[in-house]
Amino acid sequence: MSKKTVSKDELRERLTPVQFEVTQNADTERAFSGEYCDMKDPGTYRCVVCDEALFSSDTKYDSASGWPSFYEAMDDDAVERRSDISHGMARTEAVCTGCGAHLGHIFDDGPQPTGERFCMNSASLRLDRDAN
Ligand code: FE
Repeated sequence: MSKKTVSKDELRERLTPVQFEVTQNADTERAFSGEYCDMKDPGTYRCVVCDEALFSSDTKYDSASGWPSFYEAMDDDAVERRSDISHGMARTEAVCTGCGAHLGHIFDDGPQPTGERFCMNSASLRLDRDAN
């Protein structure tokens, strides 16, 4: 999958300040502040920057962390994993494969069947609700 080229100027216009800082500068939204933290509507969570399909609501669960959490990505190619040693911690950063936007981090304390917790920022996502 090729990286999409995204203009920072265009993003500053289109995104909220929080969405810009999280996706472009790897900031983290305040816990329990994001619009998708407690969201239970069915649909597909897409990258707020490039619209890539990243997570299905079927894999969303309540982690009580204050951030929307999923036990797996839409497919193995949708979310790229990178080593992150910032802030004095060794973590796995989750990045949108489509555009390089920062999404959040991946931890090993999630539920089965994967045992992983994709701890995401609401600010990186846009819920594409299922038609009903
Ligand atoms: Fe993206």
